[in-house]
Amino acid sequence: MRYDLETMIPAAKRARGQWWSDGVCAVAGCTRCSPSCDHCWYEGMTHRLFRAMGEPWRDVVDADGRWTGGVHYLPERMERAARARRPRAYSVWGDLFHEGLMVGDIAHAFATMAGAPEHLWFVLTKRAWRAAYLLTLYDPPLYACASPPANVVIGTTLDGHDTVDRLTNLRECAEAGWPTFASYTAVGPFDAEPEDLVGVRWLVVECESGPGRRVPRDAWLDRAVGMATEAGVPLLVKQWDEGGQVVHLPCKQCDDFPTFGDD
Ligand code: SF4
Repeated sequence: MRYDLETMIPAAKRARGQWWSDGVCAVAGCTRCSPSCDHCWYEGMTHRLFRAMGEPWRDVVDADGRWTGGVHYLPERMERAARARRPRAYSVWGDLFHEGLMVGDIAHAFATMAGAPEHLWFVLTKRAWRAAYLLTLYDPPLYACASPPANVVIGTTLDGHDTVDRLTNLRECAEAGWPTFASYTAVGPFDAEPEDLVGVRWLVVECESGPGRRVPRDAWLDRAVGMATEAGVPLLVKQWDEGGQVVHLPCKQCDDFPTFGDD
């Protein structure tokens, strides 16, 4: 099956730099592990959801809207997303490879995604070491297929912390047959070299937005674009700072939204 993001994501969303059509909250709760966690948007969204709905967000954020350390998997949300009729390009929210999740929970998520091949699923993690372990070394494998399903794209965040280690782990996933992508959140210089990007199918670049956001330097963007270009990795600049405003930046160096799956 071929997954064409140009057709799966509505034009209005693509115009804002959005690289998914729908989000699915697969995990409630998280803990900080990297510089870009300082202004975690998912924590803020969880706090709003908790105040509006209570369950299943109780116990994972406190009254001030900070993570409590509680983490649990939301299988019914994954199953509901899988049942959608129209093909979706899902961004799986929460860190599915968080240390607090049981292997059985992660296996359920992967079986659910593999069992819904009409949808494309982006799984973005900062715990790339655990993704590599569970997706390439763990026996039995976490997915109910003979080989990695083409509709599940494994990604990691780059933010100036453990960059090379995360890309090494991502490359291990790519070598095992998983489609991969990386997302650079510019809270520090882009510190990967072109050879570190081998195996990465797509690089998404963005600055922070929202209260207290850290303003990036244009040199960081120039370097990310340069490294991706040298490595031959398609690029999307989701959002960047321009004169104090966060804007989507349709840059000359950006390629079209890529396709995944079979040609
Ligand atoms: S890993 Fe992601 S969801 Fe978890 S605290 Fe960091 S930014 Fe938030």
